[in-house]
Amino acid sequence: MSSTAGQVISCKAAVAWEAGKPLVIEEVEVAPPQAMEVRLKILFTSLCHTDVYFWEAKGQTPMFPRIFGHEAGGIVESVGEGVTDLEPGDHVLPVFTGECKECRHCKSEESNMCDLLRINTDRGVMLNDGKTRFSVRGQPIYHFVGTSTFSEYTVVHSGCVAKINPAAPLDKVCVLSCGISTGLGATLNVAKPEKGSSVAIFGLGAVGLAAAEGARIAGASRIIGVDLNSNRFEEAKKFGVTEFVNPKDYNKPVQEVIAEMTDGGVDRSVECTGSINAMISAFECVHDGWGVAVLVGVPNKDDSFKTHPMNFLNEKTLKGTFFGNYKPRSDLPSVVEKYMNKELELEKFVTHEVPFSEINKAFEYMLSGAGLRCLIRMDA
Ligand code: NAD
Ligand code: ZN
Repeated sequence: MSSTAGQVISCKAAVAWEAGKPLVIEEVEVAPPQAMEVRLKILFTSLCHTDVYFWEAKGQTPMFPRIFGHEAGGIVESVGEGVTDLEPGDHVLPVFTGECKECRHCKSEESNMCDLLRINTDRGVMLNDGKTRFSVRGQPIYHFVGTSTFSEYTVVHSGCVAKINPAAPLDKVCVLSCGISTGLGATLNVAKPEKGSSVAIFGLGAVGLAAAEGARIAGASRIIGVDLNSNRFEEAKKFGVTEFVNPKDYNKPVQEVIAEMTDGGVDRSVECTGSINAMISAFECVHDGWGVAVLVGVPNKDDSFKTHPMNFLNEKTLKGTFFGNYKPRSDLPSVVEKYMNKELELEKFVTHEVPFSEINKAFEYMLSGAGLRCLIRMDA
């Protein structure tokens, strides 16, 4: 038992009081974990686009004040009633989507879309009592996707926590909480390219580069990166991308360009842009007979996917994935092991680093498109 178990903890957290306004470091009170919850001490966190998207609150119902953050690594401080598989001192990655291990999805080998704990961006409170565990001077502060890692301490549902090898450096593996696992799993678990095959990656942000890393690990011989921003290519080479296509350089659809480069189409494609045009191109650029395209990017609300049905009759396959088809508690520990045995490289995803007191700089880097991930050190 830690000395703080069962007590309210006062600590620092970065509170978003209003949409699009800089976060403010406040002294917050963090209530003890209730049934099936755990309280974590966060050591490292990083900023992902999803945080920025909801912080900007364009086109969604804003929910403020709120504590953002969902890519992180930390240590269990105390556990609530009924939690049997975690204890104080465990090293963990909190995850924005969970695994109850009891619902039909969790019991299915094919699904990671847990009925109880799948991502919910509108909730802002804990499931147990519909209330928040954070407050500032008595005012409740909402949670974000059940993780709220921009705080020295946070409370999460135990089903949203992956217990990992305590020898794994949390400042490296924390990026596996979200985007990197998503891209990696999209390739390794869903596209499944064979050794020596060709893979097209649409969108060379952190998710797409993780998908490229998956293609490299799978032994793909050609990894074609597609992005509207040619500056992305230099960085992408470090992730195994062998060729680059900027759709803006051609006056025909990029799927035709790729078909010409590859004698009829790539074996696999992974779309990591969120652009509906890129999704359609990613599907149409795979080879007939065996090609598989995997959609990862989150489209706009009103988008619809249009392609000629003949593409399906010609045996091109279209798939999509959420969190790279990984079940957070069951599968993340083994992804961490891929890093530990040097199969997976994570260092190259972290292009910036700031102390917690300068967390707003991480937002500036992301908004200006600089780099991939900015690591935020809670102890600095
Ligand atoms: P990012 O903004 O860093 O990268 C996206 C890249 O796509 C940019 O380099 C951009 O120039 C490029 N791009 C945009 N439109 C394009 C087009 N038409 N053709 C070619 N390139 C284009 O974003 P990210 O953090 O890497 O995330 C990528 C996508 O993955 C986002 O849509 C994000 O919401 C989604 N995502 C999905 C899941 C999931 O579980 N399915 C999880 C995390 C993120
Ligand atoms: Zn479940």
